[in-house]
Amino acid sequence: MDDRLTIARSATSRLLVIPGPIEVTDEVLYANAHPSMSHMSLDFASVFGDCIRMTRNILYSKDAQPFLIAGSGTLGWDQVSSNLVEPGENALVVHTGYFADSFADCLQTYGAKVDQLKADVGGVVKESDIEAALKSKKYKVVTVTHVDTSTAVLSNIKGVAEVVQRVSPDTLVIADAVCSVASEEIHMDAWGIDVVMTASQKGLGTPPGLSIVVASQKAIKVFENRSTPVTSYYGSWKKWLPIMKAYESNAAAYFATPPVNLIYAYHASLSQITQGAVSLEDRFKAHKEASRQIKKAAEEIGFRGVPLSEDVAANGMTALYFPDGFGASDIVPRLLKKDVVVAGGLHADIKAKYFRIGHMGVSVVDPKRGDINKVISALKEVLAEAKAAKA
Ligand SMILES: *Cc1c(COP(=O)(O)O)cnc(C)c1O
Repeated sequence: MDDRLTIARSATSRLLVIPGPIEVTDEVLYANAHPSMSHMSLDFASVFGDCIRMTRNILYSKDAQPFLIAGSGTLGWDQVSSNLVEPGENALVVHTGYFADSFADCLQTYGAKVDQLKADVGGVVKESDIEAALKSKKYKVVTVTHVDTSTAVLSNIKGVAEVVQRVSPDTLVIADAVCSVASEEIHMDAWGIDVVMTASQKGLGTPPGLSIVVASQKAIKVFENRSTPVTSYYGSWKKWLPIMKAYESNAAAYFATPPVNLIYAYHASLSQITQGAVSLEDRFKAHKEASRQIKKAAEEIGFRGVPLSEDVAANGMTALYFPDGFGASDIVPRLLKKDVVVAGGLHADIKAKYFRIGHMGVSVVDPKRGDINKVISALKEVLAEAKAAKA
């Protein structure tokens, strides 16, 4: 390892296991330290082009259109709301937690009429309810959060897409997959998902700052056939589509400066994900296995998962209720003392009753790091300490 990288690494001994940003590999850190490059150079254009192609590969898509734009995952909501939904059109938001409220808020900001179908905390919305809603009204888009990061609930986006194709085939299926891309399987073409939106800092193992939106050709046609102008400037696909096409043909074009170094970092991570020692299929298996280990160990000592059943539990993160009599202040600071950084509660209804652990990317696919064992041991130790402190 380069000396300076060693220094950067030694600046913290903490293990970051929140549901994003996640730990990144040395290769990604190193790529992020690339010397400054012109965003118009051919060298950079070919790296950007590779990123577009590899993004498509991770989603098993042949021809969907990636948009790689400086911003966070949130910018994906703005892109969907301003490019695909025209003011006054209907949107159906399938709600499994905090992030659906935000998507609905964003859609309304751009003039959509939003209906929400809300699941119980820890559950998913029944497909029969989605079917009934689609039969009652014409919706331009249906949005589903693949993994809601506030509940660790995994939705069956394949099942939702099947319902939409059967009942309302013109409706676009939008997956908020910010916390699922590269930790959960997504077969965009085969499943008929029209938009997958994500960000760099979760399963994709890159520092934060890149919005990644992938649109099916069907979605692109809907965008091209709009009858009113796009309602965003920075997020407009009219501006970005020619840029993405230029970069994919290894030429450069300019609308707004891309996050050059972050693209190098993203390239390094995508290369590891798509061509590294662990295949994409094995990566998904490794996430399932790590998730099973953490959930099982936590439940054995008295924590209870927020998802109501195993088949709706995410594989890249875990949300756990504290055992009776314990709260965040008993557990989270003690984990921090052991250099294990977890996230607090986020869902308003249960905020103080639970906490969240991310287990994505290199922490999962590189067992030499020992991250998963470290999390499990720390959980056991802190609960024992918290019990002793109350005794
Ligand atoms: C993290 C997250 C977002 C928001 O992403 P930011 O990068 O924080 O803007 C949206 N949806 C889901 C499901 C997320 O997990």
